[in-house]
Amino acid sequence: MGRIYNFGAGPSMLPLPVLEQAQAELVDYRGCGMSVMEISHRSAIFEEINNAAQADIKQLLGLDDNWSVMFMGGGGTLQFAMIPMNFLTPGKVGAYADTGNFAHKAMGEAAKVGEVAVAYSSRSTNYDRVPSPENLRMPHQAAYLYICSNNTVYGTEYHEYPDMGHIPLIADFSSDFLSRPVPMDKFSLVYGGAQKNIGPAGVTVVIAKKNFVRGRDENLPLMLNYETFMNHNSTYNTPPVFGVYIVGLVAKWLLAQGGLEAMEIRNRRKIQKVYDVIDAYPDFYAGRAQKDSRSLMNATFNLPTTDLENRFIEEASQVGMVGLKGHRVAGGIRASLYNAMPEEGAECLAAFMEDFYKRNR
Ligand SMILES: *Cc1c(COP(=O)(O)O)cnc(C)c1O
Repeated sequence: MGRIYNFGAGPSMLPLPVLEQAQAELVDYRGCGMSVMEISHRSAIFEEINNAAQADIKQLLGLDDNWSVMFMGGGGTLQFAMIPMNFLTPGKVGAYADTGNFAHKAMGEAAKVGEVAVAYSSRSTNYDRVPSPENLRMPHQAAYLYICSNNTVYGTEYHEYPDMGHIPLIADFSSDFLSRPVPMDKFSLVYGGAQKNIGPAGVTVVIAKKNFVRGRDENLPLMLNYETFMNHNSTYNTPPVFGVYIVGLVAKWLLAQGGLEAMEIRNRRKIQKVYDVIDAYPDFYAGRAQKDSRSLMNATFNLPTTDLENRFIEEASQVGMVGLKGHRVAGGIRASLYNAMPEEGAECLAAFMEDFYKRNR
């Protein structure tokens, strides 16, 4: 069995049982004589896959029929543009919490569509934190507040979401999607590219209140209008069928693990092993995120020199741990421990960090 621990930020590990089931069903999906990649997206077989994936995601998040689950292409990045195109209406201001490169890019796309305001920024402290609700400064006439729940590059994550009252709250959950329970009633629209936590690249899951999506500008191109996806059950055109199928398998796997409460407990326990080593040797492992903003998904830290960092990455890869190099804009080390990272992977990394410290302090 040649499986290794992939700590890469995305695409990232998928649960082994999901890969094995996909493998077993690859050539002949449940006796239909075809692969999921070959069946029509209009067939009853795909309709069942599509509807079951939506239903299981709703069950995981405790959502009722007032919510729509949509599957799209274009990655998380397309959502940066679609959100303002759909919701940043004339005379309104898009408010953004600038907590990392992805939030910053989203704001940049919105600025091409209309007026934006920075409701919060941690750019000057190298994106080492996220705001608590009282730190947000909202503009007048806000169309929405946009936040990035987990800042993949910097290793920060919200631990409390603001209550915005009548102002819609929109969030990028790309890198912590379905990793813990979420108070969805606070949100109007959330999305996540699948390839970090819940599936392969090529499909983005968008979850929105139906009332929020209804009534979009009819002049929007159909494929850039959320209402098209909602009204056509994500099959106005050919959806990324194989990606939707894998997301459905992952959702079933999450339910079998005990749902999002169980995942949060496990995810906390995993990443705490890494933070414990960082906190034990702060002069050697310098955590990048403020402690109260630390992510449950991505631990980011620096070693005393880039030479040591390179050796750390190299030696880890020799013992079956890859993907530890930090994002190119941030440098250092980043360990991503998404849902599918087994506990043994976290233990293995923590033990390696302990040993590396003792050999190089
Ligand atoms: C990876 C990532 C994105 C970009 O996703 P793509 O699918 O590559 O477009 C956006 N937001 C966050 C938080 C991410 O981690």
